[in-house]
Parts: sequence; structure tokens; C-alpha cells
Amino acid sequence: MTDDYDILIIGGGMVGASLARSINGLGLKIGVVEAWPFNSDLQPSYDDRVIALSWGTRLILQGMGVWERLSGEAEPISDIHISDRGHFGFARLNNRDEAVEALGYVATARALGQALLKDLEQEPDVDLLCPASLKSLSVSDDFVEVNLEEAGEVRRVRTALLVAADGGDSAVRGRLAISSKEQAYGQTAIIANITTERPHQGVAYERFTDSGPLAMLPMTEGRSSLVWTAKDEQVTEVMALDETAFLERLQTRFGYRLGHLTKCGKRFAYPLKLRQANEHVRPRIALIGNAAHTVHPVTGQGFNLGIRDVAVLADLLADVSAEQGDPGSMDLLQRYADWRRRDQNAVAMITDTLARLFANPLTPLRLARNVALLGLDSTPGLKHLVARQFMGLNGRLPRLARGIPLV
Ligand SMILES: Cc1cc2nc3c(=O)[nH]c(=O)nc-3n(C[C@H](O)[C@H](O)[C@H](O)COP(=O)(O)OP(=O)(O)OC[C@H]3O[C@@H](n4cnc5c(N)ncnc54)[C@H](O)[C@@H]3O)c2cc1C
Repeated sequence: MTDDYDILIIGGGMVGASLARSINGLGLKIGVVEAWPFNSDLQPSYDDRVIALSWGTRLILQGMGVWERLSGEAEPISDIHISDRGHFGFARLNNRDEAVEALGYVATARALGQALLKDLEQEPDVDLLCPASLKSLSVSDDFVEVNLEEAGEVRRVRTALLVAADGGDSAVRGRLAISSKEQAYGQTAIIANITTERPHQGVAYERFTDSGPLAMLPMTEGRSSLVWTAKDEQVTEVMALDETAFLERLQTRFGYRLGHLTKCGKRFAYPLKLRQANEHVRPRIALIGNAAHTVHPVTGQGFNLGIRDVAVLADLLADVSAEQGDPGSMDLLQRYADWRRRDQNAVAMITDTLARLFANPLTPLRLARNVALLGLDSTPGLKHLVARQFMGLNGRLPRLARGIPLV
């Protein structure tokens, strides 16, 4: 037996689930294939890492009808404080200058998953094929045929459009032999929740250090969430430190802006690399989220970029569906790729430059970047441009990114 879909999404992580939510109700038959049970603690996309959501992402989640469920779990960011450890440069951004309620929000990936997935399996347009994983696929003129393994059995499915949302190690990308540019940073992100002596007051700190950037993001219950980028060769030692020694080490790197650091939750480590697929569309295929581009977590851009892929693809699918057109047509896919290219390249370039430039100890570079930070702090027009980039508001915005529902 073969099931037929208009859209088959491989990967029910943050980006794949966001797409299913966005296009639900447009009259398209949607399948979501996910390797892990959605309610499992092992589901890798919805772990304990915290995600900084930009103001633009909040608008998209609002347009999708998901924000109301998440807002109670999301801590607003009112200010961003950027500094270079041990040097004179700093810059500050705030929500008052940008006339928005918050520059962004911080929520755990787990809370985001719960908000995205709630009642999704009850939607008549959506089938959750889970746990199931992609075994093979073949593309023909009118459809993509996919073999899935589900409960030890092979299930055959056909779809007009196959969307790869299966993360950085995308199996779809691999099966189609789509090449990608890859560069390891030699850095690993260590994350943990930190309790501090002084309240964070909605300030997100981005501090550049000689081993890589370090962020302390405001969280619920007065805690801050640490994203500490360490050199790969330091990670085993840092992860093995007991709580007191870890907090002491962190205190010397972060300083005393939040007073003494008093408690540290469980630590997790994520090796970092930049990966950009060389093709984001092929006939009847689209790559979105980390499957298309995995960026350094400095300034928290990865999911925000992925959900902007979703907002554009969903916008184009809404029009095609209203005209009863072909959701897998190359015309639609090329328009998707053209619309997204600039933002994707800009974010990859900005995060890559920041991760490398600020880890470089050479004196002329150090001077130049500190002057640049001060220049940014004292030039309102430039600050506004930078704030809008981080808020995800640059370029032509699809309906969801303006908070307008598609359904
Ligand atoms: C330490 C760290 C901090 C970060 N902080 C931020 C931040 O503050 N802000 C931000 O915007 N981003 C942040 N990111 C980036 C963000 O986490 C990712 O961009 C985002 O998770 C990508 O989501 P995705 O759905 O594309 O991929 P994933 O989260 O990798 O999801 C892929 C899904 O596909 C499933 N899957 C994989 N293969 C198959 C298969 N063959 N068959 C079926 N299913 C499959 C997986 O089980 C998974 O559920 C951070 C990343 C790290 C590492």
C-alpha cells in the first residue's frame, strides 16, 4: 500500500514541526516523519538547551498560533550587552530604542517542542509517522517515493514535495548526494543553567573571550543560561571540574556583572561546526533548517534562521494551495531558494566572522574589533541596523514574519 501526501517532512524537530504547524489548515495533506517518539526525553531536538528567540521569531510563532502556548515559559530580553573580555570595547542594544516589547525571548528547546507539538496529532491534515526513519527515496517527474522503516516494517509513501528538516547530519541530503561546505571550529559549546547573586533584569550578555564567545542569557526563575564556547582540547577538563571549580573558572571569564555565580545545573557539550549545503532545492525537494545550514551558536541564530526558512516556504505553499497548483513545482522551489539566499548567507557570514575574529589574539585585530564595538555603541543608525538583523526583521518579510496567519 502507498500513502500519498502533498508535503512529506523528514524530521519533526523544531524546524520540521514549525513547518507542519505553519501549513496546517491550508488544505494540504502533510506527513511528518520523526525517528524518535515525540514524548521521549531522548528526542534530540527538544533537549534542555535554551534557545534565544528573536522578536521576528516571536511574530512567526504568533502567526502560527503557537506563541500563546509558549509565552509563559519565555523570558523577555530587554537589553543585549556585548563586550570583549579584558579590553575596552563594548556595545549595548535595547528594546526601547527599537520600540518593541523585547529584543527577543529565551525558552528551553523542550518548552518550544511542547508548544509546537501540542495536539498536532489530532489535526486532520497532519499524519505523524513516528517513530519512523527514512530508508530510501527516489525522485520522479510527478512525485518522490520514500521508503520508511516503521516498527520494523517498510512503509512506502509518495509525496509531491519532500522537505528535509532532518538536521545537520541530514539523511535526505546524504541520499541525494548533495554536497556541503563544512568547517569545524575546533570549539565546543558547554551549556548549563547558572544561578547568580544579582538578578539578570532581562539583560543578555555576549562576551568574547580568547577561547571563543560566552553568552549568559536571562531565564525564568531568575537563572541565566550559559553558552560557553571552549576550545575542543579544553572541554574534557572543563566538563570534569566539580561545581565549585567550574563556577570559579566561569567567574574569571564572565566577571561580576551578575555578582557571584552561586549554582550550576547539569552541563552539556555540543561540538560546533559550520555546514552549508551547496543546493537547497532540487526538483520536488527542499532543504530547511539545520539540514540546509548549521551555524555557530554565537548570538543564537540557528533556529531563528530555520524558522525564517519555514515562514517563506509556508507563504509560497499557501499561494500554490489556494490556486490548487503543484506544491513540488520547481518554480515554487526556485522562488523559495532565491528569497532565502541573502538572509542565509548573511547569518552564516556574520556568525562565522564573530566566532573567528573575536577568538583571535593578534593585537591589531583586537584593537580593531574593540574600536568597532565602541563605534557600534555610539552610532544609532548602525545600531538600529544590527538590532534589526538580530531581530530577524531585515529584507522582504513573508506574512508569518509580520505576525499574519496564513489560514
Ligand atoms: C549549544 C547550542 C545553542 C544554541 N542556541 C541557539 C539559540 O539561542 N537560538 C537559536 O536560534 N538557535 C540556537 N541553536 C541552534 C538550534 O538548536 C538549531 O538551529 C535547531 O535545533 C535546528 O533545528 P532543526 O529542526 O533544523 O534540526 P534538529 O534539531 O537537528 O532536528 C532534526 C530532527 O530530525 C530527526 N531526524 C534526523 N534524521 C532522521 C531520519 N533519517 N528520519 C527521521 N527523522 C530524522 C531528528 O530526530 C530530529 O528530531 C543552538 C545550537 C546549539 C548546539
